[in-house]
Amino acid sequence: MIDKLYNNNNLPKEELGQLIKDNLKGIDPKLLKLARKTRENYYGNKVFFRGLIEISNHCKNNCLYCGIRGANLKIDRYRLNKENILACCRKGYDMGFRTFVLQGGEDGYYSDDRVADIIDSIKNEYPDCALTLSLGEKPYKTYKKYYQAGADRYLLRHESATDSHYERLHPKGMEFNSRKQCLYDLKEIGFQVGAGFMVGSPYQTIDNLVNDLLFLKELEPHMVGIGPFIPHKDTRFAAKEAGGLEDTIVMIALTRLLLPKSLLPATTALATIDSMGREKALNAGANVVMPNLSPGEVREYYSLYDNKRSTGDESANHIEDIRCRIKEAGYTPDFSRGDYHNFNIKGGVR
Ligand code: SAH
Repeated sequence: MIDKLYNNNNLPKEELGQLIKDNLKGIDPKLLKLARKTRENYYGNKVFFRGLIEISNHCKNNCLYCGIRGANLKIDRYRLNKENILACCRKGYDMGFRTFVLQGGEDGYYSDDRVADIIDSIKNEYPDCALTLSLGEKPYKTYKKYYQAGADRYLLRHESATDSHYERLHPKGMEFNSRKQCLYDLKEIGFQVGAGFMVGSPYQTIDNLVNDLLFLKELEPHMVGIGPFIPHKDTRFAAKEAGGLEDTIVMIALTRLLLPKSLLPATTALATIDSMGREKALNAGANVVMPNLSPGEVREYYSLYDNKRSTGDESANHIEDIRCRIKEAGYTPDFSRGDYHNFNIKGGVR
């Protein structure tokens, strides 16, 4: 079945389910080997660097798993203004980064005009850099405005492609269908789009994981973020078990085989549950790392889950250490924009 998946970059639903089930019991080394080979076909052994700037932990939503949910009154809230964000970019640019990712909760402070102005300023100062946004669900016209202001990419994990499971992870009023619509809107507008999901989130079944992979195959996103669920003490899921390292690795490898040209990050959540998590993800077909460029004094407040790593190796302040570890693992750190394979960038490098 693995060979068939490798050759066709697809598999019928039942076989995909069986493959997941088998590998969750113990990973077949062949799965990892073919996932690596697939990545090498398109990207060689490059690992792309993105500088992550967590712009705000204010959020109007209440995703049940997330530590920065609006209803959590126990965390201190912060947001970065344009000058703060530009300062992070400046620091990142000097370190060599040529992609910046602005991520945050759904924070009303960032009106469409304000975000467009931030995008415009970054693009003016750094026309050779790619700009990625991850600011949640927005109407079509807002995404369009972001794109027209110069944003290149958008990350919006689909979280779960099974309606009933999605609804158990989110409050009433949040639906998979809306999330899905956003992802299709983003694609239509012309963004390089990232979807993704947590592994081991509460109530998740193998069927749910099959649906996640089939949805990814249907959407064909350019990027896919996959990390383990990790409980946060101030959420309803505080006592739930975290997702497993090996389970996450299996899902990354399968995603690589289904979407051979995708850009797959070795996520911070994975590095949080295992000190070698990043290397293990790279050995399963991942090819992106996203060190944290947020100002040191706010980092601890972007607490999506407990013990989230934002210092040491996850911090851009230790860029040399990260570079070294990646080289030692047998990969080539790459600081270029790192666009999707053969992606036609509108108007060249904007
Ligand atoms: N507001 C943005 C960014 C959300 S935070 C948006 O809606 O896209 C980025 C990602 O962190 C989420 O998509 C979610 O998959 C992940 N995340 C949130 N809480 C988590 C937890 N407890 N464990 C692991 N990952 C989590």
